[in-house]
Amino acid sequence: MLQVKNITFGYSKTKVLNAIDFNVKPGENLAIIGESGSGKSTLIKLIYGEYDLNEGQIFWKDEEILGPKYNLVVGYDFIKSVSQEFDLMPVTTVAENIGKFLSNFYPEEKQKRTKELIEVVELEAFANTKVKLLSGGQKQRVAIARALAKQPEILLLDEPFSHIDNFQKQGLRRNVFNYLKAKNIACIVATHDRKDVLGFADEIIVLDESKIIVKDTPQNLYKNPKLPLIASFFGEFNIIDPYGIVYAHQLQVVEESNLKATVRKSYFNGSVWLIEAIYNSEIIFIQHKAELPKDSEIHFSLVS
Ligand code: ADP
Ligand code: MG
Repeated sequence: MLQVKNITFGYSKTKVLNAIDFNVKPGENLAIIGESGSGKSTLIKLIYGEYDLNEGQIFWKDEEILGPKYNLVVGYDFIKSVSQEFDLMPVTTVAENIGKFLSNFYPEEKQKRTKELIEVVELEAFANTKVKLLSGGQKQRVAIARALAKQPEILLLDEPFSHIDNFQKQGLRRNVFNYLKAKNIACIVATHDRKDVLGFADEIIVLDESKIIVKDTPQNLYKNPKLPLIASFFGEFNIIDPYGIVYAHQLQVVEESNLKATVRKSYFNGSVWLIEAIYNSEIIFIQHKAELPKDSEIHFSLVS
């Protein structure tokens, strides 16, 4: 089990992370969310051992993860990290980059594993292409495959699919996260994209003002987002008396109700329209099946 025990850290005197405490079991998928600058990347780097903690300790099983003050070479064999900087070998091929750290003693095994990982990140067509010729998204895939090559026990991912285009993202997410589950590899994902989390994370940590403000399952956070910060991660939402926080899809346009609003704009959203309206001089969002004329008066209520 990964144990992050009451850690505190700042790049200067200001604390970026304060009294952070949580555990991750083997094979578990934990998401770290929070606004930009809330310390997600810093937390990932601390777990990797990139900086020395001000207070607290981090353990994987019985081994303490120590920073550069105690370690000549940063990092441990059991933990791999994929950050924004991919750190690949540009003039060698995709297959060579992925296989680089695999033993040459067992060439057949090496070839098999390299092939398997190329399939996970769907780069079969580029196996023999030099990395420098790849797009940003393709490089990101190579970096993920390379991090998995040596079978780490923990994988740290910082905005892992940020460079990959939307056509391919969801399939890749499924491949990578299913692979991690199948191999019982613990995974910590820092992200601002709900699609990296929904359907994949076992638990979510929400960072705000250098602390963990909530740790819960995606289902519980989604169903009962206690704070606007949490609701905003999942979608368009409103704060409406007497309901509190309600998502746009929890409101419906009805013939009659004592809640009246004026339409400002309709946004086409695929299967539905998002209606922006003014209610009590505030902007609200309501999901609706059709576009509504600007300035029309509508009544709305909670979806029963
Ligand atoms: P996030 O990944 O959630 O956007 P970061 O962990 O990158 O947040 O940053 C948290 C805070 O630490 C921010 O205020 C950021 O400016 C600061 N910070 C990040 N990296 C460094 C660094 N290398 N030196 C000094 N301050 C940093
Ligand atoms: Mg970051």
